[in-house]
Amino acid sequence: MHNVSWLLRLGELTLKGGNQKAFETVLKRNLQTMLAGYKVRLETRNGRFYLHGQENDRAAIEDALNRLMGIAGWAQTNPVQKNIDTVIAACITEGKKLAERGGGGGAINGVRTFKVEARRTDKSFPCNSYTMRCKAGEAILEAIPGLRVDVHNPDAIIRIEIREKAYVYSDGQKGLGGLPVGTAGRGLLLLSGGIDSPVAGFCMASRGMGIDAVHFHAYPYTSEEAKQKVIRLAEVLGSYCMGIRLHIIGFTKVQMRIKEAAPLPWATVLLRMAMMDCAEQIARATKAKCLITGESLSQVASQTIENITCTQSKVTLPILQPLIGLDKNTIIHKAQQIGTYAISIEPYEDCCVLFNPPHPVLRGNPAEAIQLYESLQLEPLIEEAIKEMRND
Ligand code: ATP
Ligand code: MG
Repeated sequence: MHNVSWLLRLGELTLKGGNQKAFETVLKRNLQTMLAGYKVRLETRNGRFYLHGQENDRAAIEDALNRLMGIAGWAQTNPVQKNIDTVIAACITEGKKLAERGGGGGAINGVRTFKVEARRTDKSFPCNSYTMRCKAGEAILEAIPGLRVDVHNPDAIIRIEIREKAYVYSDGQKGLGGLPVGTAGRGLLLLSGGIDSPVAGFCMASRGMGIDAVHFHAYPYTSEEAKQKVIRLAEVLGSYCMGIRLHIIGFTKVQMRIKEAAPLPWATVLLRMAMMDCAEQIARATKAKCLITGESLSQVASQTIENITCTQSKVTLPILQPLIGLDKNTIIHKAQQIGTYAISIEPYEDCCVLFNPPHPVLRGNPAEAIQLYESLQLEPLIEEAIKEMRND
């Protein structure tokens, strides 16, 4: 038996005109995939999604709704009988629920004011939206002393919707917004163990992009723990984007060659070029349409505009850098929200800091970068690394 229902508000996909149905289909499939194994039923009607499930599964269901790209918000709602008295009684219950949560007295987590909003899709319902709003508002004021109406800037909104059934709800949760994952192709994320790249992956997933990831490690210079950390990051990120396929590449030989044969100040930029080169080959082989990185302009020496130009100089696939204009605090805040931050700050080094030159080039010249890169003859080592990954 389904005894709890949620109403989902769709986000940006409502702006998709004739394509909206296709976006809705993907959204629906994603939610069903996230809740596979739970007894749920999903109803779609007039651009609204209603999800019905069981009280026992509430935590898992609400967790999925909080990770679902493409919804502007959700609220628990209990369908009630379609007559005005029942609807008003449900509004009072909703108001009381809010009041109790705040410890009574009308202070609802700082909420003291409310308004009622009503929508009537079923025009045969004998009471129009305006009358419903007034009646429900009066009834709530009478039943719950301490609450006031504020139509302009209320602390809480109690909503009535009259459709095939009547729905009363309030206190909606904000959704992640964005577009359903799977509506914008698939990109290959260069996933380090750091703070930025998981956030970059999240940003692109929120635009509907499916995410594959590649991680480069330099075992035994980097530890098994460092690798496990990246696997956990991929799992967290995957919980938003319908899973992630993670390619793990041993880059020790490439890195040793750079260390031995290249001018030390260039080591980081050349390593980045090699990562990009390798990632592009993987992307082409797996039909990913672009690369995604977590670079943020001038955050570190390798991310000056000149060095980013060097890093990208060999790649022809588009490289998306969703964090390029964000400052570190904004990125950290996002990482905390999505749950990757605590993992990212675990102290295992990734391979980038291994051979960090004390005085890196700050404004590399791309022509010089390409010349140095070619002189290292990394191609066979990169091919070998890709082959080894396949055999893993
Ligand atoms: P992050 O926090 O994502 O590690 P960062 O600020 O440390 O970023 P860099 O070390 O300059 O920046 O890395 C820039 C980008 O290159 C990263 O965001 C990531 O996309 C990619 N990258 C760096 N190291 C690796 C790695 N070991 N494996 C895969 N991708 C990497
Ligand atoms: Mg890093």
